[in-house]
Amino acid sequence: MLADRVQPKIIIHGGAGSSLKGKGGLELVRRSLHAVLEDVYPMLVAGAAAVDAVVRGCQLLEDDACFNAGTGSVLQSDGQIRMSAALMDGTAQRFSGVINVSRVQHPIDLALKLQESSDRVLSDYGALEFLREIGLPTYDPTTEIRLQEWIQERAGNFSREMAGVVAEKELVDSEAGRGTIGVVILDGEGRVAAGTSTGGKGFERIGRVSDSAMPAGNYATAQAGISCTGIGEDIINECLAARIVVRVADGMTLHQAFDRSFTESYKNQRDLGAIGLDATGAIAWGKTSEVLLAAYHTGDAIGDTLEWSDADLVGSIGME
Ligand code: ASP
Repeated sequence: MLADRVQPKIIIHGGAGSSLKGKGGLELVRRSLHAVLEDVYPMLVAGAAAVDAVVRGCQLLEDDACFNAGTGSVLQSDGQIRMSAALMDGTAQRFSGVINVSRVQHPIDLALKLQESSDRVLSDYGALEFLREIGLPTYDPTTEIRLQEWIQERAGNFSREMAGVVAEKELVDSEAGRGTIGVVILDGEGRVAAGTSTGGKGFERIGRVSDSAMPAGNYATAQAGISCTGIGEDIINECLAARIVVRVADGMTLHQAFDRSFTESYKNQRDLGAIGLDATGAIAWGKTSEVLLAAYHTGDAIGDTLEWSDADLVGSIGME
């Protein structure tokens, strides 16, 4: 039995955007990301299913006020938080998610519950009803830093395109953006799953729909799984997650699929990033933005993309 098991793999992200200001910021994000890997990897060694491990990883990242998902989500133009999250089970090839939900600690929990429902993507009012129906307690994800950020932006009439990549003012450039979280996992049985959770771009129009709860931003099959971050409109225009996964299904290696897709995104002047892995155990990441806050566990070692060269569009590890 044990001989049939594959070595589990994880890749996670905490957003993409412009560069982190100083070493201090970088180390803080590194500690947060590595702590999640150190929590989730042992679950996989103990036999957890990819879907459950993805949910656990997303919950931990949603709880980290540094990132723009769950607690620490950015505020929209009307000062409200509306979060979106999606979960895709690659083996069952089943997508579920919530769009613009408020007052919940872990939006990914709603996506997990919806895996079993015949209506698998719910938006605002319906998502709130569902939250009540399954008995999850209400929760206020607002943090002081995000509130202050919103107050400052209101004074400037919301001229920035997106909110800060991480919610630590001293850590980021004033130009920084993004901060969504994502987790993609290959478990010991060879199953792939992907999850993504976001507070959105920040300061957006009421009713704006993020890519994070669409197959453009979060997608998986039995062969590969992808989670995206960056400007949602750009990710949707490229249909990035599905595009990379379909290329793998059609015979490209994961690296080739990332390479082709990011070359296209770059030519199209998109501002985005993605992480992914495939059923052979290969892990890859890509970005057209300045930085991608991603980290991975290969089973032998932990690595991250925090100091990855600005010049490269794509990186990978474990390609056969
Ligand atoms: N993609 C997210 C959105 O546009 C934002 C992000 O990745 O930070 O809603």
